[in-house]
Amino acid sequence: MINWKEEVEKRKASLIEDLQALLQIESTLDHDTAREGAPFGEKINQALVHLLEKGESDGFQSKNVDGYAGHLEFGSGEELVGVLCHIDVVPAGDGWSSDPFAAEIRDGRIYARGAIDDKGPTMAAYYAMKIVQELGLKLNKRVRIIFGTDEESNWQCVKHYFKHEEMPTMGFAPDAAFPIIYAEKGLYDCEWKQKDFTKSVDGDVRLISFDSGRRLNMVPDYAEAVVGGLSGDVVDDYRSFIQENGLNGDAHVAGDQVTFKLEGLSVHGSKPHTGKNAGLFLAAFLSGHSFDPNGDSFIRLVNDYLTADTEGAKLGIRDSDEITGELTMNAGTFVYTANEGGRIGMNLRYPVSHDFERTHKVLTDVGEKYGYELCEIEHLKPHHVPKDHPLIKTLLNVYEEQTGDEGYLISIGGGTYARSLDAGVAFGALFPGDPELAHQKDEYIDIENLLKATAIYAQAIYELAK
Ligand SMILES: [Zn+2]
Repeated sequence: MINWKEEVEKRKASLIEDLQALLQIESTLDHDTAREGAPFGEKINQALVHLLEKGESDGFQSKNVDGYAGHLEFGSGEELVGVLCHIDVVPAGDGWSSDPFAAEIRDGRIYARGAIDDKGPTMAAYYAMKIVQELGLKLNKRVRIIFGTDEESNWQCVKHYFKHEEMPTMGFAPDAAFPIIYAEKGLYDCEWKQKDFTKSVDGDVRLISFDSGRRLNMVPDYAEAVVGGLSGDVVDDYRSFIQENGLNGDAHVAGDQVTFKLEGLSVHGSKPHTGKNAGLFLAAFLSGHSFDPNGDSFIRLVNDYLTADTEGAKLGIRDSDEITGELTMNAGTFVYTANEGGRIGMNLRYPVSHDFERTHKVLTDVGEKYGYELCEIEHLKPHHVPKDHPLIKTLLNVYEEQTGDEGYLISIGGGTYARSLDAGVAFGALFPGDPELAHQKDEYIDIENLLKATAIYAQAIYELAK
């Protein structure tokens, strides 16, 4: 019996020291210093090279894959166990209590940008691998820790890496939360863009502009529209509409134009039903009027298919399954100008068993009816490892053994780094109940949790590779 916690404890001082050194490299994306072999800039490259050199001096085989990613490997055998981490960080931002790249220790925590996302978990996984290697345990598989360098932007790192390198037989990514995230919905970001224009005739009420939302993955909290040719009475109607729906906003008249403003409630696009979509409310109000042909098709498309519906029911694409739950739909951006026509951006999160081809056709056909074409912005297919997969069983057992807590499986609407592995789950390093500090000011990792995660990873690597 190996006491994994004790093995970690013996190496505590150097683990903390090595993590601090890694955190002190300001590895944010920097296009200005990007070059061949360092596609994301000098600092990210420095962090990558630093870890690969360290690994090599610790006796691992290292490989730098064109600066996009690198790996350290040991063990022997046909199969490969992979641990996927990333060493790039988002910019520090403002409001920190200490220098975000000093990695200061206060109250048993290491404060730094990247402490929990993802350098702390990366160093935990590295030490885990080092412990298994130093104990000289017999393995039947190879173990490889992969360092990505572009997780916070476009995942070019893993795309490039897996184009050239072997896909692990199974593995985990310590870049989210414990116990195990085993299923992730499919993500489809798209836009309906007006392609057919019809000339207005004199006397039409004109939709001059409509603007709401900046990001597809957020429910818009503000909308504004300018309409020409409506009578002034509309202002009173609008105020009652605002009141009836518990919203804030107002309208004012200038010349023959009315400007409508509406405040909604912004929430994350994976839970659109908990927000109040300002764009959809404003379109709903305006749908009580008829407009010039182009303005009319914009308002009707929004209102007929998106208003008061975050599940795709009006489109006929509503779906849910036992693994990942319901399909959600967030209309995140609305832009209309009289000259350029309309664009409506949507963020769709669909269950793993969903018939996406059909949904794609529905979205295409519906847009078509209103003179809009469907443009894909991003598509990430659903990701899921079956519950009875040996990977899941092993990781659950290890988690329970090391923490004494009950392990369980989590499915989410977002995407984790684990989806770049064929058979991969997200496994830590945030523990249940820990505050989510990734990308926030005063990001930290609790040292006790860092040690606990290291012990979990060490046992997990051993159990998976033995
Ligand atoms: Zn991350």
